[in-house]
Amino acid sequence: MDQIIIHVDMDAFYASVEIRDDPSLKGKPVIIGAMPHERGVVATCSYEAREFGVHSAMNVKEAYRLCPQGVFMHPHFEKYKFVSGQLHAIWDSYCDASEGVALDEAYLDVTRSAGTFDRAAEIARTIKERTLNELGLTCSVGVAYSKAAAKTASEEMKPNGYFEIRTQQDYIDLIIDRDVSVIPSVGKKTTEKLHEMDIMTVRDLLDRQEEVIELLGSHGTMCVQLASGIDVRQVVPYRPEDAKSISREITFQEDVFDYGLLSDVLFLLAMSVEDRARRHGLHGSGVVLKITYSNMRSITRSRNTASCQSATAIHREAVSMLMALNRRPVRLIGVGVYNLSQGSVRQMTLDDLFDLQIGGGSRDVRDELRRLRGIYNYDFEANLDDILHKEVMHRVTEHMRVQRMISMSSAP
Ligand SMILES: [Mg+2]
Repeated sequence: MDQIIIHVDMDAFYASVEIRDDPSLKGKPVIIGAMPHERGVVATCSYEAREFGVHSAMNVKEAYRLCPQGVFMHPHFEKYKFVSGQLHAIWDSYCDASEGVALDEAYLDVTRSAGTFDRAAEIARTIKERTLNELGLTCSVGVAYSKAAAKTASEEMKPNGYFEIRTQQDYIDLIIDRDVSVIPSVGKKTTEKLHEMDIMTVRDLLDRQEEVIELLGSHGTMCVQLASGIDVRQVVPYRPEDAKSISREITFQEDVFDYGLLSDVLFLLAMSVEDRARRHGLHGSGVVLKITYSNMRSITRSRNTASCQSATAIHREAVSMLMALNRRPVRLIGVGVYNLSQGSVRQMTLDDLFDLQIGGGSRDVRDELRRLRGIYNYDFEANLDDILHKEVMHRVTEHMRVQRMISMSSAP
């Protein structure tokens, strides 16, 4: 199906909002995250700060070393969420469906509402104008034939940019001589692995498709597809910040009766739930477990708890509910957090989560991932960026299921 998709992404969102609201910050390197003497990482920084080499996910201490004159601030999520609502109100009026992927970023399906790329380009211009005139903020907009291409397009001319990628061939032409990390779903670790094999550019990857698939398995197949400009994903109307819960679930290819495996899969799902909640500045106050048995009967169990802001805590609650259930073959398992609220994200929590992403602390999670590696013969830690993608997680859990069957059948 031919699609026309707009990807809109605010420029340095948190920092831009702070600068808009306090013009004395204009032109200064504004760094949002934590104070230099605190543990923490950079959530967003202004373009002036980027010139010093500061970037998001960087340790705040490192940011301070690079840019001691920076204006360091804590994030104000309530404010960003409010502005996000205003942004979505503008964006949503131009599309058939919109899918928020963060407070400041969304995919808009304009296939029908625009009808043509020329008209979509007009809509994109209007969105940029209204965002600036009504909210005093700049954004970058990409228009393309697929979600992946639209995202690439919006990054192309950042900040305050506009770019179009009308066809699959245009997309390939644009990225073919770039580093493999340009491909969506190729995270940091996958990039390293490919580089080690001297697969540096998209061209290298397309020339050596068989090796890539051999190296990365089904994830490799997906990378090759995306590198070829194939992306049939649709815009799913969903705004997590409006949702009452955030959940993730997995359907197994074959029913699972191994509750140890279910518990381990729940850990990956819990990490993903936590990741999504964090990216939207949300936290829950309850954990829900969902199971569909092989006879298609579904049950949910939930538990209110204030301590469900880390993957390990979500996992702990979910497993304790799982273990209280009657044991029957399971077809689907899912976990979520509910009673979501915004803001008041404690600094420690943010730190812990970010640390995990940038390869720092969060020892519990690392220990657990190492334990899983021993069981499933898969380097979860190294592939963390990628696993959190839905498609990859599905494949990884299948790998786990198969590994577990093999080891069970060869046990004495
Ligand atoms: Mg942004």
